[in-house]
Amino acid sequence: MSILIKNGTVVTAAETYIADVYVEEEKIVAIGKALSYTADIIIDATGKMIFPGGIDPHVHLDMPFMGTYSSDDYETGTRAALFGGTTMVIDFILQTQGDTLYNALNTWQKKSKGKAVGDYSYHMAVTDFNDDVAKEVVQFITEEGISSFKTFMAYKGALMIDDGQMVQLMKVVKEHGGLVTVHATNGDMIDSLVAKNKALGNTAPLYHYLSQPEVTEAEASARFTDMLAYTDCPGYIVHMTCEGALNAVRRSTLRNQKIFVETCIQYLMLDASLYENDFEGAKWVMSPPLREKKDQEALWSGINQGLIQTVGTDHCPFMWEQKKMGKNDFSKIPNGHPAIEHRMELLFSEGVHKGKISLNKFVEVSATNAAKIFGMYPKKGTIAIGSDADLVIFDPQKEHEISSKTHHMNCDYSGYEGQKVTGKVSTVLLRGKIAIQDEKCHLKPGFGKFIKRKTTTKII
Ligand SMILES: [Zn+2]
Repeated sequence: MSILIKNGTVVTAAETYIADVYVEEEKIVAIGKALSYTADIIIDATGKMIFPGGIDPHVHLDMPFMGTYSSDDYETGTRAALFGGTTMVIDFILQTQGDTLYNALNTWQKKSKGKAVGDYSYHMAVTDFNDDVAKEVVQFITEEGISSFKTFMAYKGALMIDDGQMVQLMKVVKEHGGLVTVHATNGDMIDSLVAKNKALGNTAPLYHYLSQPEVTEAEASARFTDMLAYTDCPGYIVHMTCEGALNAVRRSTLRNQKIFVETCIQYLMLDASLYENDFEGAKWVMSPPLREKKDQEALWSGINQGLIQTVGTDHCPFMWEQKKMGKNDFSKIPNGHPAIEHRMELLFSEGVHKGKISLNKFVEVSATNAAKIFGMYPKKGTIAIGSDADLVIFDPQKEHEISSKTHHMNCDYSGYEGQKVTGKVSTVLLRGKIAIQDEKCHLKPGFGKFIKRKTTTKII
């Protein structure tokens, strides 16, 4: 099976140039002007751009939460991702406190095997650290190809580890070449604000936002960077939303730390005024919450200054009926929103089309940096000879509108309903196979592969 893509504008994190790309089996075999290969399929990409397949480093598929599950499973979630040009996602395995990492891995393997349409990997969320878990952490890095470990500084009693466990985990991960990632918010401060608002009878989604002020994220982000400095471990802060947290990272860079930052598309696009619409605001109840306009400015400039390396989604959709579990209590609204499908198009439209970031920066933060930080580069995340043929052919002029009526995510509303977007995915290749063409998915469940990752952060 071979594919020749002709005359497209190839865009990588470093360069932009017009070329043909020739693909054989799973790999990119040649890139050049007027290539003379005969191929099974020829795609004319004149006037279109060719990006490396997007990598979303932060999704939650089929995730248990408050007695229910996020509404996209591996099939619907990875398929929707492909429609939007994201060829690979990294999901989170959650350790049950008191149980082993391997039991959790088995559970997540059952969710994904035979179901995933697009490629995937896992971060391992360590929620209960002890000597036995330390041994498993080493096995995950050396045998399972899972080299990033998620921690929570919030959700006490379910997911949170204390600072002592955090430091011990960092030491083990550092020694074996992995990376510690973090949900950096001060759980105790938030819990007390939630309790206070509930006692006052404040039940609306707005109080979810008011219970997680910027300082709760800024404080925890700073504490995390201090613990990284103390252990010399590389770290990665997920879903950063605000100026205060970004400033904590800015200060930490004076110590020449290995610290990476992810923001998510919603924090660049949407703001907290959405919480003022009574229960409608539940659509955007997520943690951390949407912030202010000044934070959006800080995040865009953080991307341009190289303080923020990746843009993910924290995709964690719930049906409207599920959101209504919190009709009379904001703390019972399942956290998360659907975004896996539109990350690349929204980032292109809002970022590149409106002149906030360059085309190459777009590729860097939507694909290349995630591949580098998480140990998959140059197999994933770039367009180069020998790389996986994960390619997005993109029409930069095409205008369209986002709606739950046309999206492919298993969610009955959109957080971006009616949003006008410039630039649309037209064809997607995953490991040399046509995944998306003519608005249809051509891959079956089970095509998606678990991608084993190397030890991380050596390249970036
Ligand atoms: Zn998340």
